[in-house]
Amino acid sequence: MLKFARYVRAANVDDALEVLRFRKGAQVMGGGIWMRLSDRTYPCVIDLSDCGLNTIEETDEEFRIGAYVTLRDLEVDGRLNAATGNVLATAVHDIVGVQMRQLATVGGSVFGRFGFSDVICALLALDAEVELAEAGRIPLAQFVDMPYELDILTHVIVRKHDYRASYQCLRKAATDFATINACAAYWDGAWHVAVGSRPAKARLLTGDALGVASAKPTADELAHAIEAVRGLKYSSNLWGSERYRRHLAGVLAARAIVDAAPYTSPEAADAARAVCAGEEAIA
Ligand SMILES: Cc1cc2nc3c(=O)[nH]c(=O)nc-3n(C[C@H](O)[C@H](O)[C@H](O)COP(=O)(O)OP(=O)(O)OC[C@H]3O[C@@H](n4cnc5c(N)ncnc54)[C@H](O)[C@@H]3O)c2cc1C
Repeated sequence: MLKFARYVRAANVDDALEVLRFRKGAQVMGGGIWMRLSDRTYPCVIDLSDCGLNTIEETDEEFRIGAYVTLRDLEVDGRLNAATGNVLATAVHDIVGVQMRQLATVGGSVFGRFGFSDVICALLALDAEVELAEAGRIPLAQFVDMPYELDILTHVIVRKHDYRASYQCLRKAATDFATINACAAYWDGAWHVAVGSRPAKARLLTGDALGVASAKPTADELAHAIEAVRGLKYSSNLWGSERYRRHLAGVLAARAIVDAAPYTSPEAADAARAVCAGEEAIA
């Protein structure tokens, strides 16, 4: 059973940071969905409900998603999803159920840096940063690999671009954790492909490492992308073997690129789809 020895409802982020720094064992609580899985007494939890972090703000340059925005808010925000190829709504749609998504927060999902995270995989392919009370703004790709420090995630920022994007994932059963997930996004003249649930933390491939230069990738470029994605490290657990994941990662990444690519020539689209279709069976 989850217990708290002390509960602090901070009036603002500075007060919360002070408690986090000076009260031994203090932890920020998001929706508490992950924390409640443990059977322990936390010395002190900090509630950020009064810190104004539960909105998605839009400016000319970016969307600022507060840490206490829930996954359900993320799913139903029309402006954010319309601007980002609907990848966030697609990514969170199968996370357990609406009731849980109404509690789980963006802050907890991103700060947790879980390998299976659909939220991180989708955000990683976009131009996303995190904003931390102490460390400031950091690109998400960098944050994912940072050690867990005493800090408070206040916002996730998604910079605006003309995104073409698609999110793909395989779950062995509806609402289960993803066996593998992939998100492809074309922005700023380049493809960005994130692969998560490897089962280690999601990885981002772009530029030469991905090998796809055209906005409408050729069949050859797709084959390169599949090879690059399969070149990442995978391993086995209850949700899938290393070999199964490696294979599926290539298929899902190629499907995500084809789904997101703004094909205007039916021949090019058919050739690209043929590459994906040829990958259906495990080699
Ligand atoms: C049964 C189950 C199934 C799930 N399935 C999926 C799934 O398929 N896909 C998926 O992506 N996710 C899944 N999740 C994870 C879930 O979506 C949330 O990511 C998770 O519960 C964390 O969100 P939370 O708000 O509950 O965080 P909490 O549990 O409150 O916190 C998680 C961690 O983050 C820290 N933290 C929270 N907020 C902040 C902050 N603002 N600043 C600093 N530290 C912070 C906490 O101290 C804690 O260490 C699942 C969770 C459960 C329990």
